Amino acid sequence: MTFTTHTLGFPRIGLQRELKQALEAYWAGNITQTALLQTGRNLRHRHWQWQQQAGVDLLPVGDFAWYDHVLTTSLMVGNVPPRHQNSDGSVDLDTLFRIARGRAPTGKQAPAAEMSKWFNTNYHYLVPEFHAEQEFKLSWTQLFDETDEALTAGYRVKPVLLGPLSYLWLGKTKGTAFDKLSLLPQLLAVYQQILQKLAAQKIEWVQIDEPVLALDLPAEWQQAYLSAYQQLQGSGCKLLLTTYLGGIAHQLDWLPKLDVDGLHLDAVAGKNELAPTLAAIPAHWQLSLGVINGRNIWRANLHELYAQLTELKQTHRDFWLGTSCSLLHSPIDLQAEHGLEPEIKSWFAFARQKCTELHLLQRTLREPDDQKILTLQAYSAPLRQRQQSVRVQDETIQAAVAAIRPEDAERNAVYALRATEQQVRFQLPDWPTTTIGSFPQTGEIRTLRRRFKQGEIDLETYEQGLKQEIAYAVTEQEQIGLDVLVHGEAERNDMVEYFGEQLTGYAFTQNGWVQSYGSRCVKPPVIVGDISRPAAMTVRWSQYAQSLTSKPMKGMLTGPITMLCWSFPREDISRETMALQLALALRHEVQDLEKAGIGIIQIDEPALREGLPLRQQEQAAYLNWAVKAFKLTAAGVADDTQIHTHMCYCEFGDVMPSIIALDADVITLETSRSDMELLDVFHHQAYPNDIGPGVYDIHSPNVPTVEWITQLLQKARQHIPTERLWVNPDCGLKTRGWPETRTALSNMVEAARLLRQ
Ligand code: GLN
Ligand code: ZN
Repeated sequence: MTFTTHTLGFPRIGLQRELKQALEAYWAGNITQTALLQTGRNLRHRHWQWQQQAGVDLLPVGDFAWYDHVLTTSLMVGNVPPRHQNSDGSVDLDTLFRIARGRAPTGKQAPAAEMSKWFNTNYHYLVPEFHAEQEFKLSWTQLFDETDEALTAGYRVKPVLLGPLSYLWLGKTKGTAFDKLSLLPQLLAVYQQILQKLAAQKIEWVQIDEPVLALDLPAEWQQAYLSAYQQLQGSGCKLLLTTYLGGIAHQLDWLPKLDVDGLHLDAVAGKNELAPTLAAIPAHWQLSLGVINGRNIWRANLHELYAQLTELKQTHRDFWLGTSCSLLHSPIDLQAEHGLEPEIKSWFAFARQKCTELHLLQRTLREPDDQKILTLQAYSAPLRQRQQSVRVQDETIQAAVAAIRPEDAERNAVYALRATEQQVRFQLPDWPTTTIGSFPQTGEIRTLRRRFKQGEIDLETYEQGLKQEIAYAVTEQEQIGLDVLVHGEAERNDMVEYFGEQLTGYAFTQNGWVQSYGSRCVKPPVIVGDISRPAAMTVRWSQYAQSLTSKPMKGMLTGPITMLCWSFPREDISRETMALQLALALRHEVQDLEKAGIGIIQIDEPALREGLPLRQQEQAAYLNWAVKAFKLTAAGVADDTQIHTHMCYCEFGDVMPSIIALDADVITLETSRSDMELLDVFHHQAYPNDIGPGVYDIHSPNVPTVEWITQLLQKARQHIPTERLWVNPDCGLKTRGWPETRTALSNMVEAARLLRQ
């Protein structure tokens, strides 16, 4: 038995975020396209080399993307929205960037395509747009070029291709309504061509990703799978149908009939379903088990895994060993971490270490001996020791969670009464204007923070610098004429890390970057132990900002679910328990802000929807504890304290009852890219409280005009009564510069003023 090892994909951004730097330099006109292409090539080679050195047998190709792999797929099948097309119909790298960002060094500006969250991760993909007369045509050769590149360099590779059904599923229809599945025959013709080309490149296995199989699929889609994969057979390549981020046991009544050559299972997320799945799938399928978690940073318990896999080996079934999903969601190299406590470091494994884990398992399964088994045992020892660590267990916190009462999560009065009291207190005009929290994180702020972290300036100088930034943001907002101000979040490097650093139970990496979208990366903190808040976290900043103005100053916190979803979570306690620990900690912060005179407090929960389990049957339980955690955070205040929440990139339809149940006084949303379409569900499901639909896209440097904003707000008014509408951008402004921010917000305030007349 071979126990071939493979990864489903490797992080593309680079250990030093080289791709980010090159992309941003290229967009700014500071490097040539040739230089950008060279950076990509260097990264791909380095990543293949690392994986191979670690002992991975079959290397992924096609996992690299200039922005996002769904967008690459759109280009490959020639699906370019008309507004982003070159006048001669050609497709080039700038076409790709225009779809993603609304602009590129060449070509006309046009609104970017929508982004959406990749299943239940914090990666965002560019949503394909389909219209009824859609045509597909093989238009982008990146996959074949990169395959050549890897083969020429002598690597044994397995191209990665987003499957046709998942591709269709992830897109949205534009114009006249129609069934996306009607596009399948045409799309399959292109996929056939792709596979034939790969076969001509002498490719044996293609990893065809169909992550939507982890979702609940309508019967027509199941049917479509059967016929589609039948058509894809015979190209000359073997297809490894690849599923991840969940189990697929719920598809077993039809999936075994699929015409494929192998199946990859996520043996981490789908652990409990493994046995029935293995029993049901055809014996001739090559089985691939994703046993190493691709989306968390914990070291694998190799000793335990070895025992389980040895049992499976007795069934005489050969299987491949893989990562559960692409390593895209994992930081790259634990060895590059120099600041972690040795104890904590011994609990972790990043992408490169995960490759080694695959190899350690493989060699023991192939030829077990005492020495190798001892190595596995030693490798897992830190995980066993962790359970007794004082960094992990805190009885006081555990008792506080056990003592939570239902009434702790309820406000005193209902929204209507609270709204009246809040109006008396704040006296806001119609169409009140505000922002989502962050203002530009300028070079000065970043330099200030870097100098402080490197010990070049002391705490006092650092904080003095931050105060200046806050004062600047307040003055700007007053001049622009906003109604509810924010302090601008200058003190925060990141909305999760900033809080994590002030809570117990968190650990931080120096370089654990993970791609979020395009060139944007996040460095999720790690929840390693029980969580509490030893001291107030944001109060003095908000208080200082409030002292500078007579306008209301909005306090700004990250909510418990977002703290959880954007951290690497523990795997030894439930997500619910972690959320409740976070909620208790944040509740104290909300109460302290209120005591300090901050009357409006925003609790950001952009990740609420993202935390939703993929399967419907598990969603109600999640929503239940997620809503409870949010309300527990928010509810300990007086009626005239106004609680805001903020969410971006959400599909709200299915979770609307829970959004209502949050009972925030105001919710601000990202709506501009969807042209206010999102408000439809808020209207239809009778969302009762205030809403601030975002009036401009903050991901694009394009400045919205007064007319543009006004027409969006007029659309909003068709869905939601004016008394309950707020005016704000889609999200925080930290990635923008001051000049464009100033103009954009002034236009926004002007639009509100015109509407009031
Ligand atoms: N308050 C945060 C900010 O403005 C919200 C960010 C977010 O929703 N992602 O940056
Ligand atoms: Zn946002």
